[in-house]
Amino acid sequence: MNEHPDTDLLLIRRPQDGTPVGTVPVDGIDQVRAAVARVRKAQPGWASLDPSDRVRHLSGLRALLAARSQEIADRIVAETGKPEVEALIEVASVVRLCRYYERRAPRLLRSRRVSRGWLLWKRPRIQHEPYGVVAVIGPWNYPFILTAEVTLTALFAGNGVVLKPSERTPFTGAVLSELLGHTDIPEGLVQVIQGGADTGEALVAAGVDRVHFTGSPAVARKVLAGAAPRLLPVSLELGGKDPALVRSDADLDRAARGIAFGAFFNAGQTCLATERVFVEEPVYEDFLRRLTRVTSELRAGSGGEVDVGPLTTPEQLGTVEAHLDDALERGARVLCGGRRVDPASNVFLPTILADVNDRMRIMREETFGPLLPVMAVADMDEAVARANAHPMGLFASVWTSDAEVGRDLARRLRCGGVSVNDTLSHWAIPGLPVGGRGESGYSRVRGDEGLLAFSRSRVLLETGPTPSREPWWFPYRPWSRRLVRATLAWDGERGIRRLSRALGALFGRGET
Ligand code: NAD
Repeated sequence: MNEHPDTDLLLIRRPQDGTPVGTVPVDGIDQVRAAVARVRKAQPGWASLDPSDRVRHLSGLRALLAARSQEIADRIVAETGKPEVEALIEVASVVRLCRYYERRAPRLLRSRRVSRGWLLWKRPRIQHEPYGVVAVIGPWNYPFILTAEVTLTALFAGNGVVLKPSERTPFTGAVLSELLGHTDIPEGLVQVIQGGADTGEALVAAGVDRVHFTGSPAVARKVLAGAAPRLLPVSLELGGKDPALVRSDADLDRAARGIAFGAFFNAGQTCLATERVFVEEPVYEDFLRRLTRVTSELRAGSGGEVDVGPLTTPEQLGTVEAHLDDALERGARVLCGGRRVDPASNVFLPTILADVNDRMRIMREETFGPLLPVMAVADMDEAVARANAHPMGLFASVWTSDAEVGRDLARRLRCGGVSVNDTLSHWAIPGLPVGGRGESGYSRVRGDEGLLAFSRSRVLLETGPTPSREPWWFPYRPWSRRLVRATLAWDGERGIRRLSRALGALFGRGET
């Protein structure tokens, strides 16, 4: 029964068979503001704790997540339809990042001394302070990772969080805050609000101190516009059209397996999915044969032991089919897949497309589904140029047996990171920051950078026992100029000349 008769409800259905998972009331402006107010009240106490005390307060969480992993995975599977193993990977990812920040947060967030140079009577320090109330807005494709990891990162840094999960995955989005209830963090520090665009918009406008958005570039622009009146800091983790570059000297079997994994994990609904493959002409047909063989062996379905599950939303299925139709009209060749498992199903077979060109939507727009276009290129220069021509730049992979060439190609690709002879595995290493450039957004999550992004650095400059004035204060005297000249010499010169020039400027004759 609807306990909130005056509010809208989100009705969530299993992508596997359309049966209902449950309903969730949508939060309106008043509820959003109330949630922000609750966090606002709880956060100062949390911020005042030493980072290592925050770690202690959160210390039971990892064990709890591990113990409840099956229950969490079941929720993820119910809302997204992904294979259970991929849902468990989401939980494992959160636990691993949590462990990393438990170790790193006290060290990274500690106040630290900075060199004072010749200002020997100064004591300069950098401190880190949290933003305050952080709004986290998440997508549906990794509904646990992309809500829980960011929320935890913000908490380790001393913030409170109002989280709005995707309207497609509200139950998974609420898991972390439920489990945090079993830790001894201050009551009210994390709030979950539910709803779609209107709720998200209300959250950005509700007086929060920072916004973290994961989603599409189109919505990111709206979030930025909503944040502009208050000049709110916004971090953006957006989509990708990740390229894979296959050089003639690559281990083609490994490349085929790795690229199939990168393209079809989570049915391709991954921001870091491989969505374009550029293969050197001499090995193009050979590579296509191997990739097609590997892809044809994948088990697609909506239950049991499968490798590729259903598309999570009907809209996503629509996009996949529209991109395929457009590619076929413009002359692409389907090597395997190319259809739903059966006409009534939302499971789309993993599909390899050859003879693709730049006019096709599949080469220009994020597909976010199990279609993989493969293009022949004359050489790696052409591959790099084509890879970099796309406005998105999240991640990329390079396949070659020459380590030096791999490093060089990686350096030339415009994106947030490159794997050589691998895809997606960087996510298993929590010390690596993730983020992109261009239409993929500009922020970083995970790693040390990801944690520091949730705190502001600020300065504390103390002055030891000194004479009654600093040498550069008013009134200016003739030696004020000498002092500036000495500084210029000290900072501008090298080696032994540095000292002699500085002393000359300070005490030399003829200088004033
Ligand atoms: P989306 O942009 O449609 O929605 C993302 C979130 O924004 C949802 O919670 C939605 O309710 C909310 N929203 C919608 N309109 C809003 C508004 N006007 N103001 C505030 N919030 C609003 O994205 P999606 O379909 O949920 O997710 C898929 C997209 O996310 C893909 O483009 C994918 O590549 C990207 N993504 C990026 C990363 C990354 O880390 N870079 C990770 C996963 C997904």
